[in-house]
Amino acid sequence: MASLRFNAVEEAYKKQALQPTVPEELTSEYYGKYVFGDTAMSKYLSKDTYKALKGVIRKGDALTKSIADEVAAGMKMWAISLGATHYTHWFQPLTGGTAEKHDSFIEYEGAPGGKIIEEFTGKMLIQAEPDASSFPNGGIRSTFEARGYTAWDPASPAFVKGNTLCIPTIFISYTGESLDYKAPLLKSLRAVNEAAVAVCNYFDTKVKHVTTYLGWEQEYFLVDDGLFAVRPDLVLTGRTLLGHESAKLQQLEDHYFGGIPSRVAAFMEELEYEGYKYGIPLKTCHNEVAPNQFELAPIYGEANLAVDQNLLIMSIMKRIARKHGFRVLLHEKPFKGINGSGKHCNWSLGTDTGVGLYTPGKTPKENLQFITFIVNTLMAVHKNDRLLKAAIMTATNAHRLGANEAPPAIISAFLGSQISAILEKIENAKDSEEIVMDAKHALKLGIAHIPELMQDNTDRNRTSPFAFTGNRFEFRAVGSIANCSPALIVLNTAVAQQLKQFKADVDALIKKGETKDKAIFTIIKKYIKACKAIHFDGNGYSKEWEKEAAKRGLDCEKSTPKVYDAYLKKESIKMFEEMGVMTERELKARNEVKWETYSKKIAIESRVLGNMAKNHIIPVALRYQSELIDNVIKMKELFGDKAQTLCKTTISQIESISKCIDEIKTDIEKMVAAREKADKLSTEEAKANAYHDDVEPFFDVIRASADELEFIVDNEIWPLPKYRELLFIR
Ligand code: ADP
Ligand code: MG
Repeated sequence: MASLRFNAVEEAYKKQALQPTVPEELTSEYYGKYVFGDTAMSKYLSKDTYKALKGVIRKGDALTKSIADEVAAGMKMWAISLGATHYTHWFQPLTGGTAEKHDSFIEYEGAPGGKIIEEFTGKMLIQAEPDASSFPNGGIRSTFEARGYTAWDPASPAFVKGNTLCIPTIFISYTGESLDYKAPLLKSLRAVNEAAVAVCNYFDTKVKHVTTYLGWEQEYFLVDDGLFAVRPDLVLTGRTLLGHESAKLQQLEDHYFGGIPSRVAAFMEELEYEGYKYGIPLKTCHNEVAPNQFELAPIYGEANLAVDQNLLIMSIMKRIARKHGFRVLLHEKPFKGINGSGKHCNWSLGTDTGVGLYTPGKTPKENLQFITFIVNTLMAVHKNDRLLKAAIMTATNAHRLGANEAPPAIISAFLGSQISAILEKIENAKDSEEIVMDAKHALKLGIAHIPELMQDNTDRNRTSPFAFTGNRFEFRAVGSIANCSPALIVLNTAVAQQLKQFKADVDALIKKGETKDKAIFTIIKKYIKACKAIHFDGNGYSKEWEKEAAKRGLDCEKSTPKVYDAYLKKESIKMFEEMGVMTERELKARNEVKWETYSKKIAIESRVLGNMAKNHIIPVALRYQSELIDNVIKMKELFGDKAQTLCKTTISQIESISKCIDEIKTDIEKMVAAREKADKLSTEEAKANAYHDDVEPFFDVIRASADELEFIVDNEIWPLPKYRELLFIR
């Protein structure tokens, strides 16, 4: 038994870095090669079709059958030139990850049995009906109407993966409800665009479009694939359910920005290369705080595309990692006692006139606009703090929130000293005329004197879940394995609603005879007061903050399934419906899926933990205990009564082992009983709550006993690779 582990460790240490297959060409030569982007489109489409497609993408022009047919023909030629033989609608069901159903291009040219040709028409491009009745839908598709359709999203370019042309699509039901993440994301982008343009027009009537930008930062762990294979918990749940902490973890912080081991460096080089071929503008690859933890981040881009690219890179990572003898762990908390992984979502809005709405400007007009957007964002976050949390909380991300490393389970917003000072001045000004920051910066704009702001806001607060970082907000609570969309959907919808409210409030004052600037200023001032509670620049990890946040009335709920109810609050339903993002029926269905997924994840972990404790841990503990008992018996033969004293520590070890085994056995029994009870509950919500309240608490207890055994039992016979073996790649 021991040999499995030792062989794996030995093999892992023998492995050499692979030579990455990266060509000598300049990156710009192969960048975007596998994507049907501008270069491919201008080569494979006629000028008119290209222009028409651009109109569809940029302006939302109608997509006619003839355009679709011509695009499909060009796309097919391009894909075949790259070796594609199949095509698939690539979509994002609520399971997480992506789904695809591959169809070959081949068709009979005439009668069946005749000549075969490659066919791909506009109809095949635009719509498909995957046999997708097994995807979670929360009851929206009852079996008699179990049809789901995928529909092309022209805004995200098609790409070739292996032998398959992948077409990004939304996934909707027969009756038009969204069954995926992309459809509501697109709706939320439209909502925030409309609301933001209306507000921008106060400052600049030329603004016609506002784009949402996303720059994700993907954290992940790598483990050797041989070691991974002998850890059932990693294989089945993506995290270690057992394992005593290693003597050295991240105390020395020597991994952060440290030298990257050569095996990992080779993996990263190839990953970057692959990413570039898919037009993913990867910018940084580096070590993270924990041993074996790394980060990957692109240059930010349009949010819909950035989400797709993140999903694509997650699947590419897995493939490249295998090639280099690794497994990627995208789980938020694969190891106890060291940092988990997140996916910071850097979020901002920008106009078609080239202005970043969260970038401090040079002129007072730009700065009043900047402050307007900052304050409205704060308001949106304040009104929807529980909902934002519901968007990022999952069974896996729950391990990270609240630990001393990641965003706390309380949503607050960090602004930094400069912006905070300005808001304070605005808030306390009796009359807006009085706002003069200092002589040098006293710029005039009618009534609002807002100083020139520093572009480089150097304030950094790593403990805030939602931090302003100079030209964007950084939503840090998103989980590493998550699709970014749920977080963006809530954020966009909340900001859209808030901006609409702002416009209504300002217009009301203007109607009463107020000048535009004064009206804007008055409303901003009111808002700053109203959302003060959400603004917190201090240490988000401290115990004092938990108390203070509760006093401020912020949401402090830590239970994942409970937090999900935020989606079904009256105000939330109203907001999603009014902004045209999701209907009550869709929201309810999604919550069913969330609760069900939660229960299933905990149920799987509970089973795996039970099995490992019973099949891996207890047998070796008993074996070792027998050895100790043999030893005591032999000592007695040799030393008689004196043995009792001589064997004192051995006997106490024997007792400890018995105690641990007993505890594990009884706790497993209790856990199984709790599971059975939970499974009998009639609603998904009740089940999820029972799994959270009654099943999950056993994990730590069982682990504590098992980890104690790891400490006692002979290293030679311990079956599972230990933390020190998993975590330090050479
Ligand atoms: P840090 O670790 O300090 O947060 P990184 O460089 O790792 O910084 O990541 C910053 C991320 O933020 C990158 O993906 C970057 O492209 C993105 N980003 C920068 N400016 C903006 C912006 N205005 N809007 C959205 N994302 C942005
Ligand atoms: Mg960051």
